[in-house]
Formats: sequence, C-alpha cells, structure tokens
Amino acid sequence: MKTIFGIDLGTTNSCISMLKEGKPEVIAIQDSSLVPSIVSFEADEIIVGLRAKNRQLLHPENTISSVKRIIGSDETVKIGEKLYNPETISSYILSFLKSEAEKVCGKEVKNVVITVPAYFSDSQRRATQKAGEEAGLKVERIINEPTAAALFYKYLQIDEKSETIESNILVYDLGGGTFDVSVLRVGELNEVLATTGNTKLGGDDFDQTIMELCMTRIMREHGIDLRGYKPAEARLKAAAEQAKIHLSHHPYARIEGNLIPNQGNAEIDLFFELERSEFEEMIEHYLEITKKEVGKALSESGLTADQIQNVLLVGGSTRIPAVISLLEGYFGSSCLPPIDPDLSVAKGAAIQGGIITGEHIHQVLIDVNPHSLSASALSYSELVPKVICVPIIPRNTQIPVTRSQIFYTNHDEQQVVKVEVFQGESKEPSENTLIGSLDLKLHPSPAHSPIEIEYSYDLNGIIRVKVEQKGYGAKREVDLDSTLRGQSFLEFDLSIDDEDDFDPDDMDDTQEQDNQVTNYILHKSYDTLNELTSEAEKNTLKALIHDYEKALKGDDEDLVDETEEALVDYIDELKERGD
Ligand code: AMP
Repeated sequence: MKTIFGIDLGTTNSCISMLKEGKPEVIAIQDSSLVPSIVSFEADEIIVGLRAKNRQLLHPENTISSVKRIIGSDETVKIGEKLYNPETISSYILSFLKSEAEKVCGKEVKNVVITVPAYFSDSQRRATQKAGEEAGLKVERIINEPTAAALFYKYLQIDEKSETIESNILVYDLGGGTFDVSVLRVGELNEVLATTGNTKLGGDDFDQTIMELCMTRIMREHGIDLRGYKPAEARLKAAAEQAKIHLSHHPYARIEGNLIPNQGNAEIDLFFELERSEFEEMIEHYLEITKKEVGKALSESGLTADQIQNVLLVGGSTRIPAVISLLEGYFGSSCLPPIDPDLSVAKGAAIQGGIITGEHIHQVLIDVNPHSLSASALSYSELVPKVICVPIIPRNTQIPVTRSQIFYTNHDEQQVVKVEVFQGESKEPSENTLIGSLDLKLHPSPAHSPIEIEYSYDLNGIIRVKVEQKGYGAKREVDLDSTLRGQSFLEFDLSIDDEDDFDPDDMDDTQEQDNQVTNYILHKSYDTLNELTSEAEKNTLKALIHDYEKALKGDDEDLVDETEEALVDYIDELKERGD
C-alpha cells in the first residue's frame, strides 16, 4: 500500500507526518518536529528551515518568511535582481520537507495531503497545490487545517474508547499568519457545519505590534526612525517574538535589542520591560476580531456556545493566556481538552492520507466550502436594473457538491452569454472576488431562453463550471484555474462547431448594456401586465408600454428616456400598491 504523507505547510512552521502502524507520527527533520517556513538564498544555494531562520538576522534581504500570507496573490518577492512568486518559495519549503523526510524514513515521499486554512480562497488553494507539484509531489488532497485537527482529536477519542460518541466541537486555529474557526459535529461521520476566519491575522501581527512599540521608543529616545530599514526590522522582529512568547509564561518580558543596526551609523541599544497586561491591551482588538468570528461560526452552524462540548486550540498563538481566557469565558474552562497546538494539524493530514489509501481508521470526513460561489446576473427584483451576484453554491455547503441554476437570456437572438464566477458573500460584484469568466456562444433563440449554469466544488475545494443553453445543445464545461487570476479557464470541452466565427470582444459593451436595460424593463412590464387584475391599471400600463416601444423605434433619445421613466414610475407605483 502506498503511503500518503501529511504536510502542514504553516506560515511560521511546517511539519510532515505519516501513519506508522495506523498511528500518526511526525517525522523529525534535523531533530525537530517543526521546520521554520523560511527560505534564504546564498549565491545559488537555497536554504530552508532552521538554517534559513538563523540567517534571517544577518541577511534579511536574502531571506523570506511568512510567504503563506501572500500565496495565491499577485505579489512577488524580490531577491537580488530575481522575482519569485509565492508558490515557488513555498515549493522550496515543500522540497526540503520531502528530501529530509526521505532521508529519515528511507522511502520516497511522493503522495501527500497538504493542509490549508479553512478560509483560504480557491486561488490560495490552487497556488498551494501548484507549490506541491513544483516540489515534485503528488497532491492527493488539500484539506482544511481545523478539519485536520478535528480528525486527529477524533482519532485520539477512538483510541481511548472503542464506542463512538457524537459531539460538537469548535476548532480555534490561530497560527503565525492566519486565523480560522470551524464548528464540526464528530461521531460516525465528521461533518464540518460552518467555517470562517481571516487569512491575514495571526502571531505575526502581534510581533508587529510590539515592533511598532520598539520603533516608537527608539524614535523618542534616539530621534532615529528605523521603519523600513530591513536589518533593524529583522532584529526587532526577533526580539518582539521572543518577548511575546516569554509573556505567555511570565508576567513581564525584557525587550533587549542589543546593537540594533542603524543604517551605517553607530548601532543602537534598546532595553525595556513589557508587562503581560500591556501586551494584552495591545492585541485586544485582534482578539475581538477572532471572538466575532467565533460568534459567526456558531450562528452559521445553528448551534449555541453551550451546545459545544469541546474547543480545540490549534496554532502556536493559542498559547497566549489572553486567548485561553477568551475561550474559557465563552465556553467554560472544562471545554478545552489538552491537544498539541503545533502537531495536530499535520497528524490529522496523515490520518486523511490513511483514509484515502483505505487504512482501517474508521473515520469519514465531510467538509464544507468556506466562501459562496455566485454568478452575476441582471436583477429582476428591483426596479432599477442592476447586475448582482446570485449564489449558486452558498458558503458552508458540504463538499463535494454540484449545484445549478437557470438564468434567462435578455433579448431575442442574443449572441452570447457571459458567465462570471465570483467568490464572496456580497450581492455587489465589486465587493466579491472575480475568479473567472467564460463566454458561451448561443444558438439563435427568443429572449428569455433558459441557460443552465452549474458549478461543482470538489474535495480539494476546486471549482468546475458548466454552462448550457437548454434545448439548443450549446454547452461549455471548463475547469477553473483561479491562480491565473481572473478570466482564466482551462478549457476541456467546447461543443460549438463554428466557434472561430465568433469574437465576443467585437460586441459594443455600452450597446450591450443598453439592450439589457431595455429588455429588462420590457420584461418586467409584461410580467407585471400579466399579473394585473384591474382593467383600468392594465390599460394604463399597456399605453405606457406602447409609448415606450414606439419611442425605442425612433431616434429621439429624450423621448426614450421620458417614456422609460413614466413606465418605470408606474410599475413602481403598482408594486407599492400591491405591497
Ligand atoms: P503556527 O503557525 O501554528 O506554527 O504558529 C506560529 C505562531 O505562534 C508564531 O507567531 C509564534 O510566535 C507563535 N507562538 C508560538 N509559541 C508561542 C507562545 N508560547 N506564546 C505566544 N505565541 C507563540
């Protein structure tokens, strides 16, 4: 049987694990369970892990940390004259884990399950998968970090008792760069009920807050502004993190930055004490954000705090006493079982690997999608025509899932339908993320012809889109590659023969929009007419429609606007009467 390794590719640290005789075990790399997710460049050598971390102070300009915070984005990292995208930097970390783990266990590391924050978007997931492939790995599955932690927790329970007890658990995962919260029902099945979070909140922000304080002190005491000066920032960041960790176990910490580099001038000494209460105040607003997300996850799962039996604390930052107090206050102290905040995710990933290879683990995992997927369409619910996002797969739907919805063409002989795939919760397209679009050339048909749009979300949280003109056979099915950002679909089936004759870009956008608005108004007018029962109202509406249609045939734009307004106002009035 092949082995599927589990990898927790963390913002701060990464970890690789495997099942040994059915038990998840972390593989120690250079004697440590955790490998710093740091990459440093020296001439042609790529250095990863602890050595890279040690180089960070001396060579900050050649060293990259927390790359996970920008994975799946357009941002790049410049080292010397070379630009690297975040996937490539992540692939160096994965290659290092692969080769070092191979040395330890004496076999090839090829098939893996990689974990990502539950709240990662499609492009962040894709980029992670690509990083795996660039590292020569076969990524069998991308799973959510809190779900992996829950799988491990469940494994421990099964290990202790043979019977399966059903319970609701909440996973609060606060690492170096991301925050996730998931609510799960575990039992015979492990079902994720809701998941939410913030992919840009974590221990790095707490370090940054302490660093800002140091900068302010240096400014006050020495009149020197070191902001943006990398060697000083690297030194201060290390001092800040050390102090933060110290404060988890002590009431105060000394911040000692001996000999902070000062842009070619005499180095600066920094020494002061920070109290835990002071630090807690400094990070209070971040913890408030996490508390709100906990409330949101609970309400979306349909549960209340007293229906949660266990709260799992995952991620290094959950060692902060203020985090523990926050959760004890919310759920009660008896709800927090001791689990390893650093290793549970990687061990859960190895368990998921075992489930895929068919090991006797007796666990079934059902996860959900973290963001709604919608298509843009002209809204028929408001009088002023407006393009809105219509959800096809709402967030927190169990995956894998396929859902479809019927939309309608706007005018006779419409040549093309444009499907835009959005990820996000807003009705307003500009507030969501456009992750792709595709055009389907239509067969000639009357207005209001049905178009079926179908989205599928697979077990890795990756999307496939199918568009079909019902009754006419025009169809396109595509796989969405959102790492190529916007408009990029990987086409694998196109069932229109004369595609070459058609170029959607030839269409005049403004004209297209005007046509859509006109059609929308007429559509709405006739719908309203059909619904009316009063003869008097019907006659008034018919007359207004007639005036509008007549104006449309002429050249007088003012008359079109006038008759349009009169028609829209009257429909509005009828709607108000009806309400
Ligand atoms: P992770 O991404 O789960 O590896 O978590 C890494 C983050 O946890 C980093 O920001 C660390 O500084 C932070 N961390 C680790 N140990 C502690 C601790 N004892 N107290 C506070 N933060 C910690």
